[in-house]
Amino acid sequence: MRHSIVAGNWKMHKNALETEDLLNELIEKLPTDKEVEIIVAPAFTNLSSAAQHLEYTNIGVAAQNMHQAEGGAFTGEISASMLTSIGVNTVILGHSERRHYFNETNAVLADKVNTAMKHEMRVIFCIGEELKDRQTKQHFNVIFDQLTDGLFHLKKENWEQLVLAYEPVWAIGTGETATPEQVQEMHAYIRNQIARKYDESVAENISILYGGSVKAANAKEIFSQIDVDGGLIGGAALVADDFARIVEAI
Ligand code: PEP
Repeated sequence: MRHSIVAGNWKMHKNALETEDLLNELIEKLPTDKEVEIIVAPAFTNLSSAAQHLEYTNIGVAAQNMHQAEGGAFTGEISASMLTSIGVNTVILGHSERRHYFNETNAVLADKVNTAMKHEMRVIFCIGEELKDRQTKQHFNVIFDQLTDGLFHLKKENWEQLVLAYEPVWAIGTGETATPEQVQEMHAYIRNQIARKYDESVAENISILYGGSVKAANAKEIFSQIDVDGGLIGGAALVADDFARIVEAI
């Protein structure tokens, strides 16, 4: 069901001790009276302890990635059941850093999504165009392909397990933010494509987050766009005060 979500992607930051410190700060500083789902995605090595640490709080935990296979000879990889067995039932898939540095194609991501669905996990699926795509006015086509090849094979009921994050690659970690108009335009486009492929109810029920240099200073304006349901936050999620102010902006 469509609702507000603010998720922090910690990427490859924070060791065990630092994770514990940041979680303690977040527990102290994050609002508890807002109608918003709050999620943090620490590194794999700290997921189990984070899940335990946050068990009786209003903060949920997500993994930043997982492998598509059930198990096997995939050195260094993490499976869906490894995650669910430690109480982690949400996974971020398709982040642009995974697509770019680890060659995760739409086809691989579709497999990952299928595995996550099979394990009844919720997927935060990231899509976003690169700067050259926007400059050549291909941004809508890129998003269309990412939706079609990564998600449009799913059944209508699978969409209850999905959250989308629109993250223009040129705005991630660059300090550059898409304008509220650009964000709204793309979120409306995404919702429209989902309505065309499925129906209005699927399109209306999906939460679509924006990601790309969201900060306390710009969060309110971005979150106020009608098709924006919250944010996927990178850098600012690593500072408790900043993350708390972003959550307050919902
Ligand atoms: C991200 O990596 O998902 C992200 C949005 O990063 P940042 O907020 O740092 O741009």
